[in-house]
Amino acid sequence: MADRPTLGIDLGTTYSCVAHLDEYGKPVALQNGMGEYTTPSVVYFEDRDSIVVGKPAKNELHRDSDRVVQHIKRHMGEADFFLEIDGRDFYPQQISSLILKSIVEDALAALDVEQSTNGQLADVVITVPAYFGGAEREATRKAGEQAGLNVLSIINEPTAAAIAYGLLNQGSERTVLVYDLGGGTFDVTVIKVSPAEIRAIATGGDRELGGADWDKKLIDLFLEKFEEQCPEAGDPRTDTDAVGDLILQAEAAKQDLSRRAKYGMSVTANTVRAKFDVTREEFEELTEDLVERTLNYTDLVLDAARDKGVARIDEAILVGGMSRVPIIGTKLAERLRRRFPDLPDPKLQDPDQIVAKGAALFAASKVNEMYGSDEPLAREPGGFLGGALPRIVNITSRGYGVRTFRSQSDTDGYISWHIRPNDPLPAEHKDDYRTLFDNQTAVDVAIYESATDILNDDVAVNKVLTEAELSGLPPNKPAGQPLKVTFSLGDESILRVHAVGPSNRELHIELKVAGEAPAAELAKPLPKIIK
Ligand code: AMP
Repeated sequence: MADRPTLGIDLGTTYSCVAHLDEYGKPVALQNGMGEYTTPSVVYFEDRDSIVVGKPAKNELHRDSDRVVQHIKRHMGEADFFLEIDGRDFYPQQISSLILKSIVEDALAALDVEQSTNGQLADVVITVPAYFGGAEREATRKAGEQAGLNVLSIINEPTAAAIAYGLLNQGSERTVLVYDLGGGTFDVTVIKVSPAEIRAIATGGDRELGGADWDKKLIDLFLEKFEEQCPEAGDPRTDTDAVGDLILQAEAAKQDLSRRAKYGMSVTANTVRAKFDVTREEFEELTEDLVERTLNYTDLVLDAARDKGVARIDEAILVGGMSRVPIIGTKLAERLRRRFPDLPDPKLQDPDQIVAKGAALFAASKVNEMYGSDEPLAREPGGFLGGALPRIVNITSRGYGVRTFRSQSDTDGYISWHIRPNDPLPAEHKDDYRTLFDNQTAVDVAIYESATDILNDDVAVNKVLTEAELSGLPPNKPAGQPLKVTFSLGDESILRVHAVGPSNRELHIELKVAGEAPAAELAKPLPKIIK
């Protein structure tokens, strides 16, 4: 067995967390260099060659906000997105890789493990939102590899939460709604949990909805109050450090308002200072529409679960740091009781760490599987987590299909969907094609991924995930040669294509995944991480 540690990593939009299994097989989060269990997913570019990750990077928002990068997860897998810093282009995968490397180095220090100088730092499972598409997943895996990690698997955040929840609260089969509102993303999943199996039933969410949106509303309120109180100060938005400071204060205010009814603010912009209060009531009114959006997604997912024959839920759990905002639990309970009058109140479930802990459990079971060890995951007397993990059955949050033309004069075509949202994984679809021209030796296939969990046949509203050139067809043959193409979506929702031509001859496939950063940029060495 490799002598590197096995870790679960929740790579969050705003905060990340690393966990491992302790000597009793119990999942525990690891402290970073500052003694905290979560690390801001923030990078500060000190100069072209050195960066800082975490709280010190976030604190630079006060004074050098232009060189601070946050919320990079929202851009993972996005074609052509990069940030220019000191004349160099940085891609989301590279920024994420720096965050991963830094938090794993901290975890190794917490475990008192020597860093290997040539091999990989750790065996890891990294979590992603359930509705992440193929390009985002690939970019996350590559970010891990670039950070020097052996990425055992990429798993969905709600599945990881359900693994930890199911194992820590053992019982008979239950249907659980996982409502996960983090710093930058929201997802909601209906999942069946039993000692034998964890099966996702339906999932949905929004990658553009999270704590940062609540913060933004507060920032606008602060700016409004500032302008009202100090009209002579001019536009506070022109003072970039003041705006950076407001980002930090907004988060602090939001968190404080989870415990208190009022928060006292002091804002300095353009050298003028204002003081005012923000109340919890104001905050709740201001962000009502955001909460409503999460509840609408929840309704859609419950409808999708019902269509798949799961009409009842037994419990709801709240995860993600934002679910600490009290009004969120209250509103969710109200909305769920419309359908399930007897449902117990949603439970706040270790919101910052449960995902990383579930990933650590999954990582440990993967390592056991890989090295053929029969050792139970737990060695605590009485068996805290004796034996293997339940079987995990994931679903896809997106649809996958191929652009198809009705006739030769149809120039737009439409998407013919073959794998549908909420289909269990692995999923597979086989399609028969015929060559269109004489002496055709190659065929191009464009595979589309739906933008959301609602399918639309219109080519323009979907995204090409992969363009595959299938070559190696025999030359000098008339049009109409048969070929069979198999699309398979693995456990991790990463798409593979396999094709055979006439006489079952295997075809060569050149796959181009959309959203990949240019190879020449990725090959450049990354800045040094300063601790
Ligand atoms: P996560 O991505 O799960 O780490 O969640 C991070 C988000 O939760 C950030 O937007 C935090 O500001 C927010 N958060 C953390 N603690 C609290 C709290 N006590 N009250 C309100 N929001 C919180």
